[in-house]
Amino acid sequence: MHVRYSYLPQQFENCDDLWENLKQFVPTGDFTLGKPLQEFEEKFAQLIGTEFAIGVNSGTDAIKLSLKALGVGFGDEVLTAANTFVATVGAIAEIGAIPVFVDCDDTFCMDVSQVENAITERTKAIVPVHFTGYMTDMRQLLPIAQQHQLPIVEDACQSILGAIDGKNAGTWGNSGAFSLHPLKNLNVWSDGGIIVTDDEELAEKLKLLRNHGLRDRDTVEVLGYNSRLDTIQAVVGNWLISQTEDIAQKRIDNARYYDEHLRKIPGIEIPPRPADYRIVYHLYIVFAEHRDRLLDYCLAQDIEAKIHYPTPIYRQSALAHLQYKEGDFPVADRHAQTIISFPCDQHLSQAEMNYVIETVTEFYNSEV
Ligand SMILES: *Cc1c(COP(=O)(O)O)cnc(C)c1O
Repeated sequence: MHVRYSYLPQQFENCDDLWENLKQFVPTGDFTLGKPLQEFEEKFAQLIGTEFAIGVNSGTDAIKLSLKALGVGFGDEVLTAANTFVATVGAIAEIGAIPVFVDCDDTFCMDVSQVENAITERTKAIVPVHFTGYMTDMRQLLPIAQQHQLPIVEDACQSILGAIDGKNAGTWGNSGAFSLHPLKNLNVWSDGGIIVTDDEELAEKLKLLRNHGLRDRDTVEVLGYNSRLDTIQAVVGNWLISQTEDIAQKRIDNARYYDEHLRKIPGIEIPPRPADYRIVYHLYIVFAEHRDRLLDYCLAQDIEAKIHYPTPIYRQSALAHLQYKEGDFPVADRHAQTIISFPCDQHLSQAEMNYVIETVTEFYNSEV
């Protein structure tokens, strides 16, 4: 059996009504900051539970514009997690700030107990990454940030509708950044991103920054960016957004099924699943003994398993100038050696999951 990783061909197999919406939209010519975008922003704010949502052209820009609007700039240090997708770090670097890493824990998020150690006088913000659909422990991070008067931009790109104590990812910090990239849980047909906040002044700044700093057609108030969310993508988002909760729930159900079965296999360790967390499984990851051999075995059995990521971002050559070295973040390093990701999406069938479970079982029966 072939178990694919990408479900995009399935996701948009039956969307005649969306094509109809697009057909009606295109002749309006309302392509730039159009009405469907405003609609999408209202729906998104409501979905997450914030006052405001501001569409931008990527999750990367959602982080970048947030930091910029909060006054972070050249030479400022920004704390983030030692294992994240490159975009988090790219966003920090783009405004001339310096990423300063904090190791993660077995939830794949920043180990908050190490944050105070990393704060210096140059620290100007914290970007916790709610990686894989987990959440950074915001209950512990918030008081530390408050004490040091550091704003927080949550990188919630992988954790839409993830929560701790029922409080959603993106609602804890000064702002929350989401990606609408095709590979994210709520996806459009192109790049896209959106920022949520309860801070009206921040929301106003973000609206300026995403649109060249234009207050109106003739008034440039600040120098900004061209970073609008395409209205045509908002039409796609408006069609999909009502499914977001179901998508999250289906992933949670799939992960529970995997957990229940994979837990029994010696050689597999399930990461902690704290009861007060709602983990939305953008990625489903377990720890595996003989990981490289297991990965090869799965690939040979036609299962598209993956590693997120084989080299933690802090050790990538693009960051060599920061002078980190292997061993600086031992948990991120250990994860790079032991993690494996299996497909967990809303379009995965029970038969496909069973095949994954059987294949992993078979591997440890035969190899170990
Ligand atoms: C996808 C992602 C981003 C950036 O999103 P883009 O929309 O691709 O720019 C940022 N951080 C994390 C953790 C992501 O997974």
